[in-house]
Amino acid sequence: MVAAYIGLGSNLHGPQEQLRTAITAIERMPETRLKRYSSLYQSPPMGGLQQPDYINAVAELETTLEPQQLLQQLQSIETEHGRIRGERWGARTLDLDLLVYGTDVINTADLKVPHPGLHERSFVLYPLHEIAPDLEIPGLGRVTELLENCSPDGLKRI
Ligand code: AMP
Repeated sequence: MVAAYIGLGSNLHGPQEQLRTAITAIERMPETRLKRYSSLYQSPPMGGLQQPDYINAVAELETTLEPQQLLQQLQSIETEHGRIRGERWGARTLDLDLLVYGTDVINTADLKVPHPGLHERSFVLYPLHEIAPDLEIPGLGRVTELLENCSPDGLKRI
């Protein structure tokens, strides 16, 4: 069993409901147990485009899926939620990111773990800190320490 952390985000089509149904779908993934998940957080969009605020959360899993299999499962949940891939930073129904997979560092064309930018994104670090403050992120350090250098940037726990 490996501990994995998933970042969830949505800013379209009832984002809070999108995240709730995504959590249910994650619970049903094969070879996987959902251990806990954070509160929902609301944040202004990155990249300066005109679009609704985001709702984000982080979930902790235990899984025997390989990282690539886990990514495929997450992508099929995204597809079921009708995500339309558009502009980079553009509005999206559901975005699921594999943030951390045990102590692995993965750098392939379609999978980068720990997820790039994780340590500078308040909408990832604050919910992650809520459920795993002592987690050591491979190559980056402990979540509590990373949080000290990350401004909340308009993030609100809801
Ligand atoms: P995004 O716009 O963030 O949903 O990017 C999706 C793309 O990022 C997919 O093509 C994935 O193959 C790639 N990707 C790379 N690393 C990760 C990761 N850790 N979690 C999710 N997607 C990833």
